[in-house]
Amino acid sequence: MLAQIEQEHYQKLHEILRLCRANLKNYDESLIQRAFFMCYRAHEGEKRASGEPFFYHPVEVAKLLVTELPLDGVSVAAALLHDVIEDSGYTYEDIVAELGTEVADIVEGLTKISEIMTNRETTEAEGFRKMLLSMVKDIRVILIKFCDRLHNMRTLDSLPEHRRVKMALETRDIYAPLAHRFGLGKMKVDLENLALRYIDPEMYDFLLKKVRLSRNERIAYLNKMIVPIKNDLEKQGFVVEVQGRAKHLFSIYNKMRLKNKEFEDIHDLYGIRVIIDTDKMSDCFAVYGYITQKYPPIPRHFKDYISIPKHNGYQSLHSAIIGPKGYVIELQIRTRRMHEFAELGVAAHWRYKEKISKDDAAVDSFLKWARELIKDADTAASFMEGFKLNLYHDEIYVFTPKGHMKILPAGATPIDFAYAIHTEIGNGCIGAKVNGKIVRLNAELKSGDRVEVITSKSQKPKVDWLKMVVTHRAKLKIRTAINEERRLEIEKGRGIWEKMFSGTKKLFTENDAIHSIRRHGIRTPADLFSALANQQISSEEVIESVTKPQKSAETVEKSLQGKAPQDFAEIARKVQERPSEQKDEVVISGLNNIAYAYAKCCNPVPGDDIIGFVTTEGAVKIHRKNCINVTNENLVKSERIVSVAWNRKLDTEFLAGIRIVGEDKIGMTNQITGVISKFDTNIRSIALNAKDGIFFCNLMIFVRNTDKLNTLMDKLRKVQGVFTVERIAS
Ligand code: MN
Repeated sequence: MLAQIEQEHYQKLHEILRLCRANLKNYDESLIQRAFFMCYRAHEGEKRASGEPFFYHPVEVAKLLVTELPLDGVSVAAALLHDVIEDSGYTYEDIVAELGTEVADIVEGLTKISEIMTNRETTEAEGFRKMLLSMVKDIRVILIKFCDRLHNMRTLDSLPEHRRVKMALETRDIYAPLAHRFGLGKMKVDLENLALRYIDPEMYDFLLKKVRLSRNERIAYLNKMIVPIKNDLEKQGFVVEVQGRAKHLFSIYNKMRLKNKEFEDIHDLYGIRVIIDTDKMSDCFAVYGYITQKYPPIPRHFKDYISIPKHNGYQSLHSAIIGPKGYVIELQIRTRRMHEFAELGVAAHWRYKEKISKDDAAVDSFLKWARELIKDADTAASFMEGFKLNLYHDEIYVFTPKGHMKILPAGATPIDFAYAIHTEIGNGCIGAKVNGKIVRLNAELKSGDRVEVITSKSQKPKVDWLKMVVTHRAKLKIRTAINEERRLEIEKGRGIWEKMFSGTKKLFTENDAIHSIRRHGIRTPADLFSALANQQISSEEVIESVTKPQKSAETVEKSLQGKAPQDFAEIARKVQERPSEQKDEVVISGLNNIAYAYAKCCNPVPGDDIIGFVTTEGAVKIHRKNCINVTNENLVKSERIVSVAWNRKLDTEFLAGIRIVGEDKIGMTNQITGVISKFDTNIRSIALNAKDGIFFCNLMIFVRNTDKLNTLMDKLRKVQGVFTVERIAS
C-alpha cells in the first residue's frame, strides 16, 4: 500500500502527524494514518479545479483543524474523510469497518450537510443556519465544516466566477454568522474577509490598500501607547500581554456601508487589547482603572461583557480611550482564558477540558457536558448559545422541488407542507413524493427532505387529516375547507328539502323531522339537510319518519311476523299436549285452565301484542302491551304479570294496522277503499285525515297471515299519489 503512494503524497501524512503532536494532547496516531490512506485511495486520480490532486483538500482541511481548532484525533480522521462518501464509492459502512462508528457518524453528518447545500439558493440564510444546526448532533461536524469552508474559500480562485460568488455569499450569510454563534472569533473574521474579497473585489482591494498604507503609521502610533501601558501594569504586579489590533476589513466595510461613511471617517481602526494572565475577573476592572488614569475614557463606549457575557459566551471588557493626538482607541481587556474563548469558542472549551482530564474519556465528558447544557436552557444561555443547537430539533427544514425552504415544526407531514405552500395545494393534496419516493400523507418529514406534493382537483380535505397535521395553519385551513364543504352540502340539502314540498304547503318543520328521524346522528336542521344532500337519508324516509308513530310499528311487525317471545314456543308446545285447550284464543304461560278476560281499556284483538295480569280474583286480564295501563307503573307493581300469546292453532284472523300517507287529492279515499274492498278483507276501522296537503289514513283490518298483508300493502303502494304504506299498531 505504502509503495503505491508517491513520496510527495506520503509527505502529507507526516505534515498532519507533526501538527497533531504539536497541538493535540491525546490522539490515536494509527487512526489518523488509516484515515489518511483511506482518503488517499478514495480520491485517487481525482483532481481539484486547480489541477492538483483532490486529496490535498482533505489534507489541508485536517491541517487547518489541528491548528485552528485543535480538538481530537477523531475529528482529524473525520476531516480527512469528509468528502469520501460524497465523492467516491466508499460507504458509511466502509468507514465504520475501517475507523469505527464515531468517525463514520461525523463523516455522514458532513455528507448530509453537503448534499443539502448543493444546488440550493441560500437566500433564506437564517433558515439555512437553523437547518444546519438542527442536523448537527455532534458539534465536531460543524467545526470540521468551518475548516472545510475556510479551505475552499482560500482556494476559490480556481472556480468559475458564478460559483465563486455563490460560495462567497453562502460563507458570508451562513457560515460566518454560525462561526460567530460558536464563539469562533478568528474563524468568523477569516471567513468574512474572504467572502468580501469575492463579493466585492474592488472594495476589498481598496480597503486592503488603505489599511496597508496606514499600517506602519498605525504600528508606530500604537507602540507609543503599548509600551508604557505594559510597563505600568507590570509595575502593579500584573502579568499582561498588550496587543495593538486592527479592525478587520469586513468590519470596516460593514461600518462604511451601514453608517454610510468614507474610509477616512472610520476612526476606530486603532485598538489595543490587554490580555491578563489571571483567573480573577476583578483584575480586568483594576487594569481598566489604571489605564483610564492616564488615557481619558469615553464612557458611552464602556461595555461590560464580563458580568454579562454575549450570547455566544464571549467575555471581555470593552471601552474606548482617547490617545495621543486625540485619536479614539478601542480598548479590550480580558483574561487569558476569556481570550482563548473569544478566538476559539467551543474549541477552546474543548482544550480546557483536555487540560483538566487527560484520559480518553475527556471528549466523551465534553460532549456529555454539552448535552447537559442543551437540556438546561438557562445555563446554556449563560455560557454558549452555540450549544443550543439541539434546541432547533423542534423544527425541520424542508425544500420544495424548486429548492425553496419551508420551516415546519418537527413531526410535520406532507399535508402540513402542502398547506405551507398554498391553501389550494393543501386542499387538493392526494399524495407526496419525498426525495423522489411516494410516501403516505401522514409520513413524518425530516430536515433536508425535498417534498413534492401530488394534487387532484377532485380531492377534498378530510376530517382525518386533522390528526395528521401539526401546523396551526394546516389545521385552520382543513377546518375551513370542511366547514365550507358542509355549508355547500347544507345548501344543497335545503334545496332537496324545499323540493319535497314543491307546489304544496310545508307539512312539517325541520324540527318535526329531526325529532322523528333520531338516527344518522341528526340533531340539527343542518344535520338533516346535509344528510339529505349526501344521501344518507332520502326525502321519502324523512316523510315516513314524520308521519308514522314511533315504536309501535315495530311491535306490530313482531307479532305479525310471528316473532313471539321465547316463551311462546314453550307455551305452544304445552298447548299441543292439551288438545282441549286448542279452542282458547290465548295461551297463558305456566297457568292451565285459568279464566281470562280482555281488558276493556284497550280491547285487544288477535294480532296485538298482549300481556296478562293476574287479578286478585285469580283470573288473567289481557291487555295490549302498548295499553296505557300496562305502562302505568302502579299496575305493573301491584299485579303479577304473565306472558300470554295468541293461540295460533286457531284459524283466527289477525288484526293489522296500516298507515297510508299520500298526496291529498280528490278521489284518494275512493281509490284506497276500492283496493281494500277488492282484496276481500274485513276492515275493522278506518280513519282519514288530511293536513297541509298530505293525506293520512289509518286502517285496521283482519288478515289471516302476513303474506296476505304484504300483498295488500304492495297494492296500496301502487295507488297514485301514495307516498308510503306502513304497518302500525292501532
Ligand atoms: Mn470539502
